[in-house]
Amino acid sequence: AIASTLTTTDELRNRARVALTACGVGALDGPVQARSPITGEALFGVPGADADAVRTAIANAKTAFETWRTVPAPVRGALVKRLGELLTEHKADLAELVTIEAGKIPSEALGEVQEMIDICDFAVGLSRQLDGRTMPSERPGHRLMETWHPLGVVGVISAFNFPVAVWSWNTAIALVCGDTVVWKPSELTSLTALASAALLDRAARECGAPEHLNAVVVTDAETAQVLVDSPDVALVSATGSERMGAAVAPRVAARFGRALLELGGNNAAVVAPSADLELAARGIVFSAAGTAGQRCTTMRRLIVHEDVADALVERLTGIYASLRIGDPYADDTLVGPLINEAGVEAMQRALAQAVEDGGEVLVGGARREGLYVEPAIVRMPAQTKIVQTETFAPILYVLTYRELDEAVALHNDVPQGLSSSIFTTDQREAERFLVASDCGIVNVNIGTSGAEIGGAFGGEKTTGGGRESGSDAWRAYMRRATNTINYSDELPLAQGVTFT
Ligand code: NAD
Repeated sequence: AIASTLTTTDELRNRARVALTACGVGALDGPVQARSPITGEALFGVPGADADAVRTAIANAKTAFETWRTVPAPVRGALVKRLGELLTEHKADLAELVTIEAGKIPSEALGEVQEMIDICDFAVGLSRQLDGRTMPSERPGHRLMETWHPLGVVGVISAFNFPVAVWSWNTAIALVCGDTVVWKPSELTSLTALASAALLDRAARECGAPEHLNAVVVTDAETAQVLVDSPDVALVSATGSERMGAAVAPRVAARFGRALLELGGNNAAVVAPSADLELAARGIVFSAAGTAGQRCTTMRRLIVHEDVADALVERLTGIYASLRIGDPYADDTLVGPLINEAGVEAMQRALAQAVEDGGEVLVGGARREGLYVEPAIVRMPAQTKIVQTETFAPILYVLTYRELDEAVALHNDVPQGLSSSIFTTDQREAERFLVASDCGIVNVNIGTSGAEIGGAFGGEKTTGGGRESGSDAWRAYMRRATNTINYSDELPLAQGVTFT
């Protein structure tokens, strides 16, 4: 029933072409196949970058850095301001491409582009606030301060599930910090990458900024090693699976480069007996089933107090049974497709393993036509290995607890440490959880997903420890110098050392 109502691949191709043209991308042809999970079919070929092309992109970015670093930060901000305006103008075009390539429903695709606009606003303000401290010197007639300087070329590796927002978090901040960017997007979302880059190129031309501030290299993981290993890439900001991070981080460390890692999450909510269950159910469903379970912050585990477990689970299974699954372009769809066949198979395998571990599938889990699946809720007798693993699909495992300490222990007993929440109306409990959760994001009475750009975003443990986006995440994109200035005519040494 679903397949007959799907937008056809021809129509997706036409829509993509219109959006690409509007963003300034010319005719495309090449060996990399752009696809849409909506129909699971190929759209058209895109040019790829081989190792030499990646080397050239790095060399050009390095040259551009030498000029860009000397441009005053607020002037650099003017470029990002123009980028934000162009993103606003082309919000619908980019969102269209996000829907076509990543399968997001239009509201979420528009939200992702809004996030790009928001980070541009933030970065523009930041361009006048890249501030260092001044500390009192122990020596008379001396001043001690720190200053922040542009770092160099930033290599951005991004995942399919936030095909444009992650690039913009990195790039808007990197640009105001005086850095240049070489971007390796996911092979699964090359069209959104080309469109975003074309808008930045246009902004740069209009602002008279140097060429090659940002390059897109559409390439596979193997060719991306050129970016990972290059001593000319000062920072590798990599977003993706824990497996990717485990491969990339040691290579960057081996050459004493900097790595900023945004890896997998296995996010949980604790639901306490005092929770507003209606509000909790809404927050849980958005976080667990939204984006078809393909956010790094997707809620994958529910740790619910025994006294409210049945009532909450009943509510959730009722909502899940009525979730509208299908073509993201169809009115009212809330759950679009998974990204590809491998994603669907991973979900089926995880469900089979959970059942083998004694889990009971309470709702969903079936595969429908194409790449569409029913979000699942599975009650587990214990937090087995499969529950401790991030499966990038909409599976919510339910565990129960009696004492908050037990819930916290279960919560923290996974390798990942990205996002967490507690639903409670008991302030003491909320405060205890804020301290006890080992994640980079800890929420109260909202779900685990849907962060704003104003805060620093990222997580601990195998999530990689990186922070991006707001707050002081910009510091990762700059280098710090400590300066001691002597304005006296004496030369006192620190710590009272004498040397005469
Ligand atoms: P993935 O790891 O398969 O790919 C991510 C990117 O890394 C792609 O561009 C890919 O080509 C590249 N890559 C993979 N192996 C590489 C290697 N050895 N060297 C260099 N590049 C390599 O992930 P995905 O399926 O695209 O995205 C889903 C994953 O990303 C999930 O685990 C999700 O949690 C994670 N993610 C994390 C965040 C975060 O901010 N923490 C945000 C979005 C997605």
